[in-house]
Parts: sequence; structure tokens; C-alpha cells
Amino acid sequence: MNIEENLNNIKKEINIAEEKSGRKAGSVKLLAVSKFHPQESVIEAIKAGHFLFGENRVQEANSKFPQIKEEYKNISLHLIGSLQSNKVNKAVEIADCIESIDRCELLPKIENQCCKLNKNIKIFFEIHTGEESKSGFTDKGQLIKCLDSLANNEYPHIIPQGFMTMAPFTQDEKLIRKSFISLRELSEDMQKNYSHLKLDELSMGMSGDYKIAIEEGSTIVRIGTAIFGERNYN
Ligand SMILES: *Cc1c(COP(=O)(O)O)cnc(C)c1O
Repeated sequence: MNIEENLNNIKKEINIAEEKSGRKAGSVKLLAVSKFHPQESVIEAIKAGHFLFGENRVQEANSKFPQIKEEYKNISLHLIGSLQSNKVNKAVEIADCIESIDRCELLPKIENQCCKLNKNIKIFFEIHTGEESKSGFTDKGQLIKCLDSLANNEYPHIIPQGFMTMAPFTQDEKLIRKSFISLRELSEDMQKNYSHLKLDELSMGMSGDYKIAIEEGSTIVRIGTAIFGERNYN
């Protein structure tokens, strides 16, 4: 696995997809998802000039990233896996952004820990858009409840960025595209209703479907396998 080569290839492909879909060059960020890959792989990516990383699990992230961030100051870590309430404190401590906010009850817990640490944190709301995936908000009313509380400035340390989704695991391009379109439409809707909040980031697209995601407006693609290789789950 040549991580540097993979990174360069993906970045090239992202540029091509941006251009094809009439998007500005550089409008799509690349989140390198290093779950199940060792610290050395992350460092290899850093040495190749990459600085934006994603991890699924708090515990795994905590075993890799605090040291890395100590040594490489401009590294940014996004958590992208569903977050248990009892992991919130550690999550806030180690992450710069939590992309997988799937229920309002996480917000006061996050705010509380941010206050203690005197730290701001970015978040995305994860939305359920595909029949087969399990995670994310399914109830728009609940999402609106969260956005209302942010708009009322109840959580001053929490900085919303936008919305995240996982497309269904299928070969059916139509279904995948449908899922990305529905995230974009929801985002446009919410940006209209909450014009004072920053909600314009769309985190969508993985190794298998990121080109479709870019065509549908993704601003951040989350890519693991195509950079670091297959994951060994044992
Ligand atoms: C693992 C994971 C990714 C990356 O998946 P690949 O197919 O390896 O690119 C992206 N997003 C989430 C939420 C993930 O859990």
C-alpha cells in the first residue's frame, strides 16, 4: 500500500469530479478515514502532506491521535461513528469535529464538556437518507429541535457545520444518488430556515461512491479503503 500515491490519486480524482460537475477546484475536502489502520499509516499520510483524518470509534481514536496531535500541530480529527453518551467527554477531548450527531440529547453533554475544557467543537448532523443504513436522524422534528436550540444560542461552544450521511450499501447508483440528493435538499431547506447558522457543509461520499457525492454537492468526502487499503477486522 503506497499511501502517498493513493492520496495523490484520490486528490486527482476529486479534482476531475469537481471540474466535471462544474464545481470550483478545491471545493471538496478529503477526510482520510484511518479506522482499523495503525498509527504508522496515519503518520505516513501526514508526511505526504495530509492533515484531515476521520475515526469511527472514540476508543480507537484515543489510542492513536493524542500523541499524533502532540507532534503534528495542524492535524484535524473528525469522529464519524455513532457516539454513545458515555463516550462524549472523551470524544470532545480528542476531536475537532463530531460528524455523527444523531440525537439532541448529545448537545448539552457536549456543551458541558466543552465548557470544562474551554474548547469549541464543530459538529455535523447525521441524517438517515438510505433505506438500508441504520444511523442518523429519521425524524425531521427532532432535527429541528436541535437546530432551534443552537439558533437560540443554548450551546455557545458547539459550532454547527452542516449535514452528514451514509448512502445505502448497494450497487444501485440510482439509490445512492437519491440518498445524496435528499441530504442536499434537506440542507438547502435548513439553510433557508436557519440563515444565522452555518450549515452549508455536506459530508457525503466514501471510497465506492464519492464521485457521485461530488456531483451532488458534497463538500467533504470520507475515504478509508482507497487510501489505506482494506480493513482487517480481526
Ligand atoms: C468507514 C467509514 C468511511 C470510509 O469508508 P471507505 O469505504 O473505507 O472509504 C466513511 N464514513 C463512515 C461513517 C465510515 O464509517
